[in-house]
Amino acid sequence: MSEANRSTRPRGPDLQKDGFHHQARKRFGQNFLHDQNIIARIIRAIAPQPSDHLVEIGPGQGALTRHLLKDCGRLDAVELDRDLAAYLQDTLGTDPRFALHQGDVLKFDFSSLLPTRDEAARHSLRIVGNLPYNISTPCMFHLLQFQQWIADMTFMLQLEVVQRLAAVPGDEHYGRLGLMMQYYCTVEHLFDVPGTAFIPQPKVCSAIVRLVPHRHPPVQVEDVQCLQEVVRVAFTQRRKTLKNSLRTLISEAQLNTLPIDTGLRPENLSLADYAMISDCISRSRTTAHAAAPAAAPSSTSAEESHVQE
Ligand code: SAM
Repeated sequence: MSEANRSTRPRGPDLQKDGFHHQARKRFGQNFLHDQNIIARIIRAIAPQPSDHLVEIGPGQGALTRHLLKDCGRLDAVELDRDLAAYLQDTLGTDPRFALHQGDVLKFDFSSLLPTRDEAARHSLRIVGNLPYNISTPCMFHLLQFQQWIADMTFMLQLEVVQRLAAVPGDEHYGRLGLMMQYYCTVEHLFDVPGTAFIPQPKVCSAIVRLVPHRHPPVQVEDVQCLQEVVRVAFTQRRKTLKNSLRTLISEAQLNTLPIDTGLRPENLSLADYAMISDCISRSRTTAHAAAPAAAPSSTSAEESHVQE
């Protein structure tokens, strides 16, 4: 066992593969796939091709890795657990198409895997993984920073997270996560996976989702951070009407200038509606900024020049 892993007392069941013993580590979100039918279904959903450059997050003991490697052109794998990384390096490292990166996916620079960062590299990476559930949402948002280099992403996630990602207005799962992910990607809930497919079995149901970054966003917004703020504030009080939940960001009079029913609840508005609200707020902020008296900066300069004197 490596130094990095020694402090984590192993508690999970002993998993043996090719003479390699490993005890699942809960804090690394280790639930290993063992159901061969489910594994085959996931591989069919990914459908690796010889021209594909795949990146697997959390390969674990290689349940998916071995199958992916049969058909793809190149496979990079990012694994945090040093024992598993060493095991995979020993068993698959002789294949020149395979590279193992031991480390934290949340700090991983996916663009470093590209031979060039020009037009040819755009949308060239296919990301896959049975993600550690404790970091699945930050992991997906980390990946969105590299969206221009990504063709698609196929992930195993908690079923509830997939339902939230794919939710449409009016759904009980509709909220921040789905709205913001759908701004960046098309989301497809492919199929569900029972807990019995894993060792150890997770307490929650799982599902496979495919995320495909948009080449052109479905809605145009002037300021994505403003959109994020609007969605966050709206869903902080999702039972209130829109005009009440957004009171701190936009006046009722401003909201009434938009073709939106302000008596609706946040869960009934589409991404396009939120984009309109966001643009109205960012335009009024820009106007307010431009109209602000120029006295403040010049008086500061005057004070500075006075100090300098
Ligand atoms: N792919 C394997 C399978 O399906 O059997 C293992 C999946 S298991 C749910 C998640 C894997 O992600 C584990 O191998 C775990 O060690 C790894 N992992 C956990 N946190 C990670 C992180 N921050 N960066 C990279 N890998 C991580």
